[in-house]
Amino acid sequence: QKEFDNKGGVVVPKMPSFDYAPPPYTGPSAAEILSKRKEYLSPAMFYLYNKPLNVVDGKMQYLFDEKGRRYLDAFGGIATVCCGHCHPHVVDAIVNQTKRLQHSTILYLNHAIADLAEALANKLPGNLKVVFFTNSGTEANELAIMMARLYTGCHDIISLRNAYHGNAAGTMGATAQSNWKFNVIQSGVHHAINPDPYRGIFGSEGEKYAKDIQDLIQFGTSGNIAAFVSEAIQGVGGIIELAPGYLPAAYNIIKKAGGLCIADEVQGGFARTGSHFWGFENHGVVPDIVTMAKGIGNGIPLGAVITSPEIAEVLTRRNYFNTFGGNPVCTAAGLAVLNVIEKEKLQDNAFVVGSYLKERLIALKDKHDLIGDVRGRGLMLGVELVTDHELKTPAKLETLHVLDQMKEIGVLVGKGGFYGNVFRITPPLCFTKEDADFLVDAMDYTISKM
Ligand code: PLP
Repeated sequence: QKEFDNKGGVVVPKMPSFDYAPPPYTGPSAAEILSKRKEYLSPAMFYLYNKPLNVVDGKMQYLFDEKGRRYLDAFGGIATVCCGHCHPHVVDAIVNQTKRLQHSTILYLNHAIADLAEALANKLPGNLKVVFFTNSGTEANELAIMMARLYTGCHDIISLRNAYHGNAAGTMGATAQSNWKFNVIQSGVHHAINPDPYRGIFGSEGEKYAKDIQDLIQFGTSGNIAAFVSEAIQGVGGIIELAPGYLPAAYNIIKKAGGLCIADEVQGGFARTGSHFWGFENHGVVPDIVTMAKGIGNGIPLGAVITSPEIAEVLTRRNYFNTFGGNPVCTAAGLAVLNVIEKEKLQDNAFVVGSYLKERLIALKDKHDLIGDVRGRGLMLGVELVTDHELKTPAKLETLHVLDQMKEIGVLVGKGGFYGNVFRITPPLCFTKEDADFLVDAMDYTISKM
C-alpha cells in the first residue's frame, strides 16, 4: 500500500487484512487503455476519478488494480455486486451453465429461467408472480411503463423530481434531473415534488408532499393516470429515503385515480436495505408492478419486471419478445445470487453492518462541519457534503477532493445527487464492521487533513 506522511499527526487508517492475492497482471497499462478508450469509445463516457482507476481483479468486497493494489469497494459496481466480486458460488453457477448451454431464447424450454421466475415470485407479496426478464434496469422500467399504459388505457405517468429510472425514450421522461435528460421527446410524464427530508420544503412530513400528487393530477393532467413510478430510496439522486408516510399516501391517491403503482427496485432491492428484501416493504405498501436489475445478477446483465397475471395479460395482445432476456447463464447467476443471500444471511448482515456504519457516520457528522447529512438504510447510505449548514450549499470541489484522497488510502465510494456532493455507499452485502471502520476512518482522516 502507498506510504503516507503523518504531518497532521493522524495515523493513516489501515485496511483490514484479507487473504487473497490476485494473479500477476500482464495486460496493457492504464495509460494504454485510456488512450484506446479516448480513440474508440464514445466521448460521453465519464470516470469516477480524474485519474481513472484500472481495475483488473475483484474478490468479494475488494477490487485490485494492475499493480495488485487492493481497494475496499464501497460502491459495489453502483449497488450491483450484492454477493461480492466473483463470489465462488455465483462464478460456479455461471461457469457450469456456460459449459452446458450458453444461449437458447425463450422459444425453447430451459429450467433456469423457470426456476428463477418461481424463486423471485416467492420473494414478492400478493399477486405479484408473473415475471418478464430484461437485460437492464432501463428496459425493465420501459416495459413496466408500457404495461401500465396498456392496462389502464391511459398515458400519463407521474414520477418524482430528482429520480433516475433509466435513459431510453420512456424512462428518460420519468428520470427527473436535467443533467440526465437529452432534448428529445419524453411525453406524458409529470414530476411531483420530491419528498426529500433534508432539502424538501416539508421536511420529513411525507403526507404533505403527497398532496402535490393530487394537485398534479388535477392541474397538470387530464385526470387519466397510467402509473406512478418511484424508488423507495433514490440512488442516483443522492441516497434520498422518501419521507415517512409518503408512499402509502401517494399509492392511495394514484389508486383512486385509477393508476398503477410501479416500484423501481433496481438499486434498493435484493436485501440492500437490510430491514427488508425490497425497499418498498420499508414503507408498508404493495405495488402493482416491481422492476429490478443490478443486484439480481451480481453484475451479470439481467433485469426483470414482476406483476400480477391480470396486468401481465396485456402483453398477449401482440408479440412481445427480447433475444437475451432470461438467458440461461444470466438466470443461473440470478438463482445463485438468491441462494447466497439466503445461505450467508446477507440481509441480516446489511442490517447489522449498515446500522453500525450509519451510527459511525452520524458521529463523524458531529465532528466535521463539512458533513451536512447522513442518511439511508442498511448498506445503501449517503453522506452529503455542504459548505454551509443553514444554506446547505453543496460542497462540490470538497467532495471530489475527499473522493480522490479516500481512493489513495484504499477506499472507493460513489458520488451522486443533483449537485454531485453526496457520497454513495452501496458496497457488497458481505461488508464487515472492520470494513465500515476503515471507511469511516479514511473519511475522517481525509476531512481532518483538509
Ligand atoms: N432505475 C434505477 C433506480 C437506477 O438506479 C438505474 C441505474 O442506475 C436504472 C433504473 C437504470 O438501470 P440500467 O443502468 O441497468 O439501465
